[in-house]
Amino acid sequence: MGRKIRLAILLMSICVCGILLLQLSFAYNSFKAEKSLFGKQVNEAFASAYDSVKKDRDEVILSDLRRLVSDTTFIKITSRVNPVYGTTVFTMKELQPPFKGQTQISLSMETFTDKVEPITPKARQAFIDHVVQIARSDLQNGYVFYYTQKLGDSLSKAKYEVPVDTAQISKRFMEMLRDSDLPTEFRFDTVRATSDFTTKPIDLALKTTVPPKLLFAVFRDSEIFVFERLKWMLSGSFVLMSVAVFCFGYTLRVMLSQQKLSEAKDDFIRNMTHELHTPLASLTVTAESLRKFHHDNTERETYLDIILHQAKRLGTLTSEILETARSGKVGSRVRQSIGVADLVNSAVAAFPSADVRFENNVSDLKISGNANDLFRMLTNLIDNALKYNPNADAHIEIKVLETAKKMIFEISDNGPGIPDSEKGRIFDAFYRIGTGNRHDVKGYGLGLYFVKEVVRNHGGRIAVYDCKPSGTTFQITFAK
Ligand code: ADP
Repeated sequence: MGRKIRLAILLMSICVCGILLLQLSFAYNSFKAEKSLFGKQVNEAFASAYDSVKKDRDEVILSDLRRLVSDTTFIKITSRVNPVYGTTVFTMKELQPPFKGQTQISLSMETFTDKVEPITPKARQAFIDHVVQIARSDLQNGYVFYYTQKLGDSLSKAKYEVPVDTAQISKRFMEMLRDSDLPTEFRFDTVRATSDFTTKPIDLALKTTVPPKLLFAVFRDSEIFVFERLKWMLSGSFVLMSVAVFCFGYTLRVMLSQQKLSEAKDDFIRNMTHELHTPLASLTVTAESLRKFHHDNTERETYLDIILHQAKRLGTLTSEILETARSGKVGSRVRQSIGVADLVNSAVAAFPSADVRFENNVSDLKISGNANDLFRMLTNLIDNALKYNPNADAHIEIKVLETAKKMIFEISDNGPGIPDSEKGRIFDAFYRIGTGNRHDVKGYGLGLYFVKEVVRNHGGRIAVYDCKPSGTTFQITFAK
C-alpha cells in the first residue's frame, strides 16, 4: 500500500475516532445533565407538594384558632384608646382562666389607626384577623406563641398532633409531576433506595425534639425516562456516528479498490509489453541482418518470411488486445429471443479441437438477450476452462437446467480449480491469479469481468464453485 494512502487512512481514522469520541462524550454529558435536571425537578416537586399539604393542614389549625378567638364564651375582646399615644389597644382575656400561665394579652395594631372605645364589631373582626395572621406566620416559622395559656395550649396541641397526611402529599406530588411531564410512578419509602432514583427526604416529625420521621419518594426506571427525553438527540447522534463510520468504510473501500485496479492495470501493461516485445525484437534483428549482410536469394526469402510472420503475429496481438479492451464494453441492450441450445452449440463449435460436451435437453428453451454478448460470455468461459487446464485429457461439460422461474447454465472443467481466496476477485477488471511476471497463459484479466458484465446486463447472477475431484464450475442463473 502506498505511503500516501497509508497517511490518508491514518488521518481519516483519527478524524472518525475524534468524531466518535466527541459524539460519545456529548451524548454522555447530555445524559448526565438531563439526569440531574430530572433530579432537581423531582426534588422541587416533592418539597413543594409537602409544603402545600402542610400549609393546608396549618389552615385547618388556624380555622380552629379563629373559632376559639371568636367564641365569646371563651374569650372576651375589649378595646380602649391609649391616652398617651392615641392608639387603640385591644385586650384579649380568657373567661375561664386555668390555674397557671397567662390569662390575657393587650396588643395594638400598626395597620389599625381608628380610635375605638368601646369595641365595635368591625374592630373586633380586624383584631381576630390580626391574631390569626400572626399565628399563621408563627406556624410557618415552626413555633407557637402563647397569647393566653389556653389558646397557646390548644394551638400547640394541634400543631404537634395533627399529622401531615402522606396520602395528600402523594396526590399533590402526583399532580405536580404530571404538570411537569415527569414520570408519575413512584413509591414512598422511609429509607433511601440503593439502586433506584431517590429524592431528598422530607421530615414528617413536627417537633424538633423527636427523632426525624423521614420520607423519600423512590422512582424506578428513571434512567429509561431520561433516555426517552433524550431519544431524538441520542438517535441524531447515533445517525451521525453511523454516517461517519459508513463514509469512512466506503471511502476506504473505494480507495483500496482503486489501488487494486491500478496495480492490476500495471500488470496488464507489463504483460502486454512483454508480449509485444518478443516479435518486435525479432523484427529488428532480422531487418538489421538484412541490411548489414549480403544474403543470397533463399536466405533473403527466409528472412522476409520471418519478418512477415512476426508482423502478422504483431497484428494478431494488437487486434487481440483491442478485442479484449473492447470486451470490457458490453454490447447494446438490444434484446432478441435466442434458442438456448443453438447458443450453446455455436459456442461449442468455436472450439472444434477441444473436448466440450453439451447434453442438449432444453431444445425449446429460449432466452431474451444480446446474442453476440451471450455467445462471447460462453466462449470466454470455455476458453478459460481450456487455457488454464494443463491436463492432457482436458474436458468441459456444459449443462443447462430449467426450473419454473429460472434457467441455469453450468460450465465445468477438470482443471486445477480456483483457490477460495481468489474466488471473490477473479471477476474484477484486469485481475489475474498469480499475476506479475507469469506469462505462461496469455490473458489480460478482462475475460471474467466481461462475463460478469454480460450476466449483470441480462439480470442474472454468476457464481463459482469447486468441482469434484478437481476443477471449476461457473454457474450462471437467469430469470426465465
Ligand atoms: P484472462 O482474460 O487473463 O484469462 P479472466 O478474467 O478470464 O482473465 O480470468 C481471471 C483469472 O481467473 C485468471 O487469471 C485465471 O487464473 C482464473 N481462471 C479463470 N477461469 C479459470 C478456470 N476455468 N480454471 C482455473 N482458473 C481460472
